[in-house]
Amino acid sequence: MTVNYDAIVIGTGKSGPSLAVRLANAGRKTAIIERKLFGGTCVNVGCIPTKTLIASARAAHVARRGADFGVVIDGNIGVDMARVKARKDAVVRQSNEGVANWLKNTPNLTVLEGHARLESGRNVRVNERLLEGKEIFLNVGARAFVPDMPGTTEVDYLTNSSMMEIDFLPEHLVIIGGSYIGMEFAQMYRRFGSRVTVVEMGQRLIAREDEEVSAEIQKILEGEGVEIRLNAKCITVAKRGNGVAVGLSCEGAPPQVTGSHLLLAVGRVPNTNDLGLEKAGVKTDPRGYIAVDDELRTNVPGIWALGDANGRGAFTHTSYNDYEIVAANLLDHDSRRVSDRIPAYNLYIDPPLGRVGMTEREVRNSGKKALVGRRPMTRVARAVEKGETQGFMKILVEAETKQILGAAILGVEGDEVIHSILDVMCAKAPYTVIQRAMHIHPTVSELIPTMLGELMPLA
Ligand SMILES: Cc1cc2nc3c(=O)[nH]c(=O)nc-3n(C[C@H](O)[C@H](O)[C@H](O)COP(=O)(O)OP(=O)(O)OC[C@H]3O[C@@H](n4cnc5c(N)ncnc54)[C@H](O)[C@@H]3O)c2cc1C
Repeated sequence: MTVNYDAIVIGTGKSGPSLAVRLANAGRKTAIIERKLFGGTCVNVGCIPTKTLIASARAAHVARRGADFGVVIDGNIGVDMARVKARKDAVVRQSNEGVANWLKNTPNLTVLEGHARLESGRNVRVNERLLEGKEIFLNVGARAFVPDMPGTTEVDYLTNSSMMEIDFLPEHLVIIGGSYIGMEFAQMYRRFGSRVTVVEMGQRLIAREDEEVSAEIQKILEGEGVEIRLNAKCITVAKRGNGVAVGLSCEGAPPQVTGSHLLLAVGRVPNTNDLGLEKAGVKTDPRGYIAVDDELRTNVPGIWALGDANGRGAFTHTSYNDYEIVAANLLDHDSRRVSDRIPAYNLYIDPPLGRVGMTEREVRNSGKKALVGRRPMTRVARAVEKGETQGFMKILVEAETKQILGAAILGVEGDEVIHSILDVMCAKAPYTVIQRAMHIHPTVSELIPTMLGELMPLA
């Protein structure tokens, strides 16, 4: 028997639950389907657990630095990984149960557990149940990409998901992938006390960022003892005793790195390969991301795709913004579009990197006449007082229009301070608005107006 719904939401990532509740509250008979963990990646194996673990790692780091601040700690500083994991699990449980309870207690909303597949442009099968929906919303997310490198089928490896089960200290963690996820785990495990080596194919870490950002991040991590092997053109993996040997060169001979544990952090793939998209006629791009328009409609009328699976963002906030865009267009007669949003994200190493808008390289490539402001964190009083002077801040402004084009704040509180720049960009206000604002002393933010007062032409 087919059960009819006004709306069917597949996946309980960051956009699905909010959208399902909004639709149900608007009087639409709605079903939401989850095959695994309520709350999806961010809640269970992504942002929330990693940032909780990072907080434990930072506590250990600050304790080790106690003497710098005149704090005397007698004895060794140890990390109890079982307790670190238990703390993380408690934080995750709260969010995961929060999402499940919220959905299950929303009137007019049916929660189904199981793997959902489209059978047509209107029908979804979940185990033996067949549902029909006037509208279908796909929030199926992404998962860790396991590369087809020589040896991967023979060795045990970890991904961001299985890392969440670790309650012991790996002796030597080798991380393949020198980008955002790899960086966070590298610093975290180094601070827990593991030896950590990062193996990266490219010439520098986090190649999407400007070179000076990559270089400073490398300096920060190496300063804490993370070993970094760049230009690893042909990576191979092989069993070596109880551990794993990672070959770095194309010749197959040494150099190689031998570690006790291997983490693959080389990117993500969308969960679209077993979704029945072909039966519904929903188009994907060559990498499997669901093709959507500016309002997140797929090519099939009545089907939308939100979150990581549409390839238009890879963050919790982009997924949530997708929900806001779809809900505004469908329910509020408010025309909102993906192209209206300004790219913004953080990298949660310590100190963090806050990013908004264009990189310096993108500005140069655009040919725009621009001004640039820079300030090392050594010249930020608040950073000096805190004893955390690594990093720098940089801002780019279009010379003619005075609009802010982009910024990077790699430094203490950079993850929060970046929002003052993001908000001025969203307001489409000239940089002079923030330059003339009176900021509070002593803060990192107080140096943003100062930096804007010292802009130089981008050479
Ligand atoms: C280690 C790590 C750290 C991260 N840190 C951050 C961070 O600090 N900040 C940030 O903004 N982003 C971060 N991200 C990215 C962030 O987690 C995702 O962008 C975010 O979760 C958005 O995901 P989503 O809404 O697209 O779907 P997801 O959260 O991936 O959820 C999709 C859900 O759909 C379910 N599903 C899939 N297919 C089916 C099906 N066929 N039937 C039923 N259910 C299905 C899945 O089980 C899953 O629960 C991180 C990611 C990782 C891996």
